Amino acid sequence: MAAPWEDVLRDGAAIREAAAVAVDAALLQGVLMRTEGQPNASDVVNFAPFTLLPSAVPSALFEQAYAVQQDFNMLVDAISQNKEFLEHTLASTIKVDDFTARLFRIYTQVLEEGLAQSVFLGINRSDYMFDSGVEGPPALKQIEINTIAASFGGLTSRTVAVHGQVLKVLGKPQEASRLLPNNPSKGLALGIAKAWELYGSPSAVVMFVVEEVQRNIFDQRCVENELWNRDIRVIRKRFRDVFEKGSLDEARRLYMDGQEVAVVYYREGYVPSNYNEQNWEARLLLERSRAVKCPDIATQLAGTKKVQQELSRPGTLERLLPGHAEAVRRIRATFAGLYSLDMGADGDKAAAMAIADPDCFVLKPQREGGGNNLYGEELRQVLEKIRDSPQRTSYILMDKIKPRPAMNYLLRAHSSLQVSECISELGIFGVYVRRGSELVLNEAAGHLLRTKAVEHADGGVAAGVAVLDTPYLV
Ligand code: ADP
Ligand code: MG
Repeated sequence: MAAPWEDVLRDGAAIREAAAVAVDAALLQGVLMRTEGQPNASDVVNFAPFTLLPSAVPSALFEQAYAVQQDFNMLVDAISQNKEFLEHTLASTIKVDDFTARLFRIYTQVLEEGLAQSVFLGINRSDYMFDSGVEGPPALKQIEINTIAASFGGLTSRTVAVHGQVLKVLGKPQEASRLLPNNPSKGLALGIAKAWELYGSPSAVVMFVVEEVQRNIFDQRCVENELWNRDIRVIRKRFRDVFEKGSLDEARRLYMDGQEVAVVYYREGYVPSNYNEQNWEARLLLERSRAVKCPDIATQLAGTKKVQQELSRPGTLERLLPGHAEAVRRIRATFAGLYSLDMGADGDKAAAMAIADPDCFVLKPQREGGGNNLYGEELRQVLEKIRDSPQRTSYILMDKIKPRPAMNYLLRAHSSLQVSECISELGIFGVYVRRGSELVLNEAAGHLLRTKAVEHADGGVAAGVAVLDTPYLV
């Protein structure tokens, strides 16, 4: 199903006019990023990349993605409390992947000492593509679930207004009025505020743990400002600051510069390059503390690609969510084919299958952040090289999702305006809060549509490949 503005796509003059309006609207609305040249200063900023037009999204799949989000929240939360499952599932990965091994070591260490934390906050984003399949209607297929530092909930809260204006400029006011409101930053902040409240110390602050290079600060500021509006103090610190100034008291309450911290919200810490020895020490200190970590180390591990692959094994979801048959059914319906490359007959078979037909699969290492996956010929070459080595267990294999492309214009600073064949990825934000064993909040908090030109197999907005978009339900 196409969006109802195919007619204007090739009207050069109208598109140029709309693009000029769009860029200024984005700047006015705060769809902003710092520049590559000055990534830590707000003196010079630019608009974050976005599509000129909204993209058509089948309404049934959009609703399906929302309907399964509370199930995914519950699932991630259940995995994070299941030591045996995490241990068993990640056993092969941590033998060959140092980063996961290091996270796992902190996880074990914290459990051995006994958890000081009793309130838990999860913010995740489950990402999907619409598989066009050979026949029948498109199907919703999960790409991955991000359980740490899921971004763009802030900036995407501001793209609806931009796209609404573009549609009006193009003479489509009715279509503009059909764009759905969307405000993930508010939902995320509500979750953080709830965790802060349950922590129960009114003078304590919320600490965002941020990267050394902070180009995407405005996305985070959207969430931050929602917290300030609720009279909750927010501080922004790097691991380095935590190493230098963080401490625990005898009850393992966390202090930064003498201020008690109720909630630690990580926008950092998900890739190996985020860590040196001091940063690892800082991470351990935070994990040992009583503060609510979003996510705690167990929940970060629950978001690994290896866990995702294990979830697709028959019987696994049922074991993790006993008594939730409907939730299990809804979750499983979104799974694409996933295959373990562990040593043994099944792994041999999966490797051979991908080598024979590399264009039908994606080879994924145990990494986050985009740009790491292998496709096509490269997939074949790498897999041939490691097919008999334990190194292959640091990857998982996945069916390649093939969405139907649509035409759009991708607006980027310093780039010329040209039409591209594009595909989109829909993310749904999930937020939940648990106190002890009681889930006190479990919600879908909004969505994110990211669109990229078909020639890029991989990569997100931060990686400079995908751009922000708004769904237009058809
Ligand atoms: P990361 O943790 O790096 O974000 P993802 O699993 O999200 O890892 O993969 C990165 C990108 O690769 C996705 O945004 C998507 O564009 C593409 N991709 C991942 N898995 C598939 C798949 N099974 N089929 C098609 N494209 C995929
Ligand atoms: Mg991703």
